[in-house]
Amino acid sequence: MSALTELHDEITRCQRCALSQARKRAVPGEGREDAEIVFIGEAPGFHEDQQGRPFVGAAGQFLEELLDSISLRREDVYICNVIKCRPPGNRDPLSEEIETCKPYLDRQIELIAPRMIVTLGRVSMEHYFPGAKISHIHGQPRKVGGIIYYPMYHPAAALHQPRWRQVIKEDMLKIPQLLAEADRIAETELPQSAEQLSLF
Ligand code: URA
Repeated sequence: MSALTELHDEITRCQRCALSQARKRAVPGEGREDAEIVFIGEAPGFHEDQQGRPFVGAAGQFLEELLDSISLRREDVYICNVIKCRPPGNRDPLSEEIETCKPYLDRQIELIAPRMIVTLGRVSMEHYFPGAKISHIHGQPRKVGGIIYYPMYHPAAALHQPRWRQVIKEDMLKIPQLLAEADRIAETELPQSAEQLSLF
């Protein structure tokens, strides 16, 4: 059994926070263990909780469409969330829940060692760019320690606000070229504070 599969199993059994009491299933994540790109959403919704798989509802359908626009299928990448269990009524995850779940996400990234991390939505962006504004930094890559961090709006935003649809599609279309030219993207100095990050 691979280290990632073992981690998935551990997440499936996790009882570190109260979300484990209300869930039907934990949603560890899925995709290639050697994926070049990891997509990170916020938290499982109703359908994800039912199936134990990330992005299988309406937002997931749009994510698949976006992947298709750059000739990728979900099996070619790795998809997961910041929080592995569904918050009741799809409320925003609490900061304690995010903190408790953080070691799982960090370990997933360590094991997969992707070339690019795409954050989907504000909660996921906050994990890497605390204090930043998604409207300022979406679609702009930052390279830190050889990994390209690429913030995008959440695909669900397009379902609620059709005007975001085009923005999200355009940001997605930039990904192949960013990967192809990764060596030419300059490393970003690690910001000293969240305040500086918000300047991104
Ligand atoms: N929204 C997310 O952020 N993650 C999912 O898995 C599904 C919807």
